[in-house]
Amino acid sequence: MAATDRNFSGKPVLDEGVNKMNCAKFQNEFDDRLDGRLDPARALEFDAHTAGCPACWPAWQAYRGMWEVVSRQPSVVPSFGFAQRTLRRLHEQAERRFWQLPVFRWATAMSLLIIVGVTGVMVCRQAETSRRVATYAAVQHDRLEDFDVIVSLDSLGGETQL
Ligand SMILES: [Zn+2]
Repeated sequence: MAATDRNFSGKPVLDEGVNKMNCAKFQNEFDDRLDGRLDPARALEFDAHTAGCPACWPAWQAYRGMWEVVSRQPSVVPSFGFAQRTLRRLHEQAERRFWQLPVFRWATAMSLLIIVGVTGVMVCRQAETSRRVATYAAVQHDRLEDFDVIVSLDSLGGETQL
């Protein structure tokens, strides 16, 4: 840390535009430097630049630090049958959730609404029809009564005439 700090302060500040261009190139090589894929000359250039660049240095530190933390994590070995259990659970969950999807809930709700609506209309029409039938029957009944009256009047009339 102290050595790089000295480099950082000792390096002359480059022209802004050239620096930015260089920075992009060096920042694209973070992975290669980390994995040791840069040739030795380029690795030296890389180290010199990142150590002296106020833009690349914090980025490089953060990147390297992140991968150090990741690499320090102990590798987790899954227990026997983990993959099969996970796949089975995923499958079960997918099956169970098929009817719990909001789309299906909405579809069910809308279907129920339509059924209730259609039933309501049918019941209303049936009520209308039976009301009409009742009215018709009542009218017919009145007519029949009138007819009875007429018949009895006729018979009365016939009697009186006779
Ligand atoms: Zn830079």
